[in-house]
Amino acid sequence: MPSSKNSYDAVVIGAGIAGSAIVKSLKNNQISNFLVIDKALGPATQTSAHGEALCHPYIGRGASRLQRLTFIAFNEAKAVWAANWCGSGVFHLPRNQDGFDKNIMSERLLAQGFNSEMANPLTASEAKEKIGIAAGGTFFPEGGWVNLQQACQDVFEELLPEQKSWATEVKSIHQSKDGWQIYGSANQHIATSKRLFLAGGLGVKNLAKTAGIELPLKPVRGQLSRFTFSKDSSWGEAKPKVALSGKAYCLPPQKMADDQYEWVVGSTYDEEVDDLSVWPDSHDENRALIKEMLNHELVDAELKPIGAFVGIRCVASDRLPIMGPVLNQPGLYILTSLGSRGVMWSALASQMFTEHLAEELHHSAFFDTRFFAGARLAAAGLTADLAGALLAARFLAGASNSKPIFPSA
Ligand SMILES: Cc1cc2nc3c(=O)[nH]c(=O)nc-3n(C[C@H](O)[C@H](O)[C@H](O)COP(=O)(O)OP(=O)(O)OC[C@H]3O[C@@H](n4cnc5c(N)ncnc54)[C@H](O)[C@@H]3O)c2cc1C
Repeated sequence: MPSSKNSYDAVVIGAGIAGSAIVKSLKNNQISNFLVIDKALGPATQTSAHGEALCHPYIGRGASRLQRLTFIAFNEAKAVWAANWCGSGVFHLPRNQDGFDKNIMSERLLAQGFNSEMANPLTASEAKEKIGIAAGGTFFPEGGWVNLQQACQDVFEELLPEQKSWATEVKSIHQSKDGWQIYGSANQHIATSKRLFLAGGLGVKNLAKTAGIELPLKPVRGQLSRFTFSKDSSWGEAKPKVALSGKAYCLPPQKMADDQYEWVVGSTYDEEVDDLSVWPDSHDENRALIKEMLNHELVDAELKPIGAFVGIRCVASDRLPIMGPVLNQPGLYILTSLGSRGVMWSALASQMFTEHLAEELHHSAFFDTRFFAGARLAAAGLTADLAGALLAARFLAGASNSKPIFPSA
């Protein structure tokens, strides 16, 4: 039987960047009787053990849901993760240089709401001057990267010991008249909570299933390479001045002792793979992709791998995140499938959960049919259809409709 000692206003399962974002929302609503549970020995040991997660808005050909959502989420990310924000701009290169035209890109950016402080298209010769590489693309002056692990550690350091439970694996959840019941691997009762947030990355798939919720989540392995090259090598001549994104991404190379540079380059994308070991082939793939982007004569052997970060992304079948309350499951919320956009989606979720919880607390009710964006985000363009596209309900047959709804990404 649950005792008052293990009864909470909110329980969060998962202490990565998703769990950290939710903790911020709880605190923004003065909810302090909460518990964060993780099977690891501390926060950010899995996919969020990532020190260099790049962030800039997505630009597509038209105003797709993905484009509109990242336009809003990028601004939220700069605010929510401000203390951990690094860098001074990201240069984004199109997949195909032949298709890049500065005038067409300027028109497209204006149509999608960007002004020149947010995004500047550059021709290859302008990019050579400003960025150091001879390829056309779009410079995002406010783009940067976040040390996800540090951001999570900062959030959890501020919590009281009784608000976190490490080395605790949750095996099942179910709803009762007293709230959500949370059980561990030996079927022992861990906690009872009015609200339950599933923020365990890919682990959400099995946990949600114990409450009868089937989600189309899959693993996508990624390897980020840490390379070294010397100042006098071909790579030394071609190195970019800022972070790049495109077929691959990289941070600006860092000068170390003895005229050597260290360089973070990533990330491979292996669907349905969950192997965390370092693959030499993934280093080769990262090297080949960044070489294409730099558009310069480069000698492979001069770029040597010295380390790697390997993580497993959680991706939904429509490539959008899942966030918000779960229809017909009062008090249950999900934040997962952040894919390759953990910085942006966690920040957007943090702001939306802050607004949503405020609304629920104000009315002393659970609102499981929609995700309240709040007036500020609605004014920034977060319309009801966009907020609805994030809900788990899009995958639940018989939930809002008789068929799953797949929003276009
Ligand atoms: C190689 C690579 C490069 C990337 N690059 C970028 C980038 O440039 N920009 C960007 O924005 N994003 C990037 N990402 C994505 C980003 O890292 C992820 O989206 C983000 O870290 C996911 O965070 P999360 O909190 O959802 O999951 P996680 O960090 O994996 O956290 C989930 C937590 O839940 C716990 N857990 C799971 N199940 C249970 C259970 N049953 N009981 C208890 N605890 C449980 C786990 O132990 C874990 O701590 C990259 C990812 C990879 C792999």
